[in-house]
Amino acid sequence: MIIFDNVSKIYPNGVKGLQNINLAINEGEFVAIIGLSGAGKSTLLRAVNQLVPITTGDIQVNGRSITQATKKELRLIRREIGLISQHFNLVKRSTVQKNVLSGRLGYYSTFKSMFGLFTKEDYGRTVEALTSVGLSDKLHTRSDQLSGGQQQRVLIARALVQQAPIILADEPVASLDPITTEKVMDDLRQINQTMGKTILINLHSIPLARDYSSRIIALKEGQIVFDGLPAALTDERLESIYGKRIFEEKVGDVSEA
Ligand code: ADP
Repeated sequence: MIIFDNVSKIYPNGVKGLQNINLAINEGEFVAIIGLSGAGKSTLLRAVNQLVPITTGDIQVNGRSITQATKKELRLIRREIGLISQHFNLVKRSTVQKNVLSGRLGYYSTFKSMFGLFTKEDYGRTVEALTSVGLSDKLHTRSDQLSGGQQQRVLIARALVQQAPIILADEPVASLDPITTEKVMDDLRQINQTMGKTILINLHSIPLARDYSSRIIALKEGQIVFDGLPAALTDERLESIYGKRIFEEKVGDVSEA
């Protein structure tokens, strides 16, 4: 479903964000990407929808090359990819309904989107998506009145109305308390298991990666240093990814679990 073919990213300042990444993500996988800060997790995730343009190599999404896509093709490819991120925020002054509806914008011409001409089906999908993340009662609430966890779940609902088969989640639980974290992670698990969405998620927490994902990819200095089943990520492997001291902090940190 997503193929990285020898992908490298060098930022203008010379930093190597990604180095020779080869990767195939299959439909329906729940892939956690772990690694230290600066390891390249965010770069990898954002390369998938070209929010970060790659320097060399190619990425294919459902058989279509993202580097060779025309503007129009890129728009179509992006329609298939939902993004949930701390930094990709909601329009705070708009209602939850409007924010979720905006997930439909990729389906309309600029004219229609400018005037917010959504169909009855779109309104129906919005209610449905909010119900599936437990927020149907927040339809008309202003988004800035929601908690951080609720905002992340509105972003999940937006990805659902977008009908994107692929969801990229860039540290969606980084600043949430443990209980809210669990709710957001459970929502992601549910849409993965019941709707078959392919999920790529960047996580700081190793316990969360182990609990929720079907596959873990670890990055170090822009390279893949582990790619396999959570059970195969032994403490020794973790130590080599994180270094001994940080490894002990990460695995010992149950507050994140
Ligand atoms: P992670 O998500 O694992 O914390 P990132 O993908 O954000 O890592 O960053 C990988 C490396 O690329 C880091 O060294 C970071 O400083 C660098 N980097 C990220 N974005 C930029 C940018 N826009 N310009 C220059 N360097 C960047």
